[in-house]
Amino acid sequence: MQDILKQLPQEAKDKHNENTNFFKKLKKKPPKQLDYIMQELHEAEFKRTDCFECANCCKTTGPLFTDKDVERISKHFKMKPQRFIEQFLRIDEENDYVLQSVPCTFLGADNYCSIYEVRPKACREFPHTDRKKFQQISNLTLKNVAICPAAFNIVEEMKKRIK
Ligand code: SF4
Ligand code: SF4
Repeated sequence: MQDILKQLPQEAKDKHNENTNFFKKLKKKPPKQLDYIMQELHEAEFKRTDCFECANCCKTTGPLFTDKDVERISKHFKMKPQRFIEQFLRIDEENDYVLQSVPCTFLGADNYCSIYEVRPKACREFPHTDRKKFQQISNLTLKNVAICPAAFNIVEEMKKRIK
């Protein structure tokens, strides 16, 4: 896995133009059964991928925290939301709450998330490859393929399947 992660940014760069063109076409004319195809590709990929071996999303990007996330996680720590924000979060350029630093503070050395049950919605949904109307998040996916080996593979499979 470490070798895959090392090569991933360059591989994503090499595929960037091809992927951009693919997503342009997909946006113009998404296949009727796109939601179904994505569900299938997502499930197949995550049967093969062990996120505990990887944890690259937790190590390199970290999620956005919604107000509901802050409320739930601070409650888990029996902290006041404001105190939780001061201790762990900052506001980014887009005015969202994000982690003060990466790797994520809540990631253990064994790649387990110490707040797994109450983790942010963005963590639960990453890399969003099973979401409906997938063509709508193509810009985000173009970035995610450089971080997430599973997303990279799913996009490669999409290109084979959707002509
Ligand atoms: S979601 Fe992607 S980047 Fe995150 S741990 Fe799983 S394979 Fe790695
Ligand atoms: S909260 Fe958990 S799942 Fe989310 S980035 Fe941190 S360690 Fe990873």
